Amino acid sequence: MEKELEKKLLIDVARLDPEGEELEGEVDIVDLDEPYVKPFGGVRYRLTAQLFGTELLVRGHLEQDFDLVCSRCGEDFDTTIEVDDFTVSVEISEKDQWADLTTDARESIILALPTYPVCAEDCPGIVQKAERPADERWGALDGLKVK
Ligand SMILES: [Zn+2]
Repeated sequence: MEKELEKKLLIDVARLDPEGEELEGEVDIVDLDEPYVKPFGGVRYRLTAQLFGTELLVRGHLEQDFDLVCSRCGEDFDTTIEVDDFTVSVEISEKDQWADLTTDARESIILALPTYPVCAEDCPGIVQKAERPADERWGALDGLKVK
């Protein structure tokens, strides 16, 4: 039986190891109503969480699989959007049991989406190879393997 994914990325602050903790999992938090940007599966995370006084510092890696539409040829393709430097700090009060990182994580993933997705670096496009736009975010796709 497939396990239902949590809809929130929560850190159990009350039970967090004072030395810091490695947290891993998958949560279903990216829900877009976009015909050309379809997430599937959940956000997989590998995070380190540590309390410094009343400040919770969390950093690590996030990734989410998407079905995107190539901006050159118009075909669907699957890709993984990764965030290597996810960092968030949350002010915690004594009575807080949980820190909710759902919004931060969701926004980081969405910001990492390419403006002009391409199915392959050498995608010829529909008519002819388009000029490479001067958008740095294209670089994020360079290292990705397209299934
Ligand atoms: Zn293409």
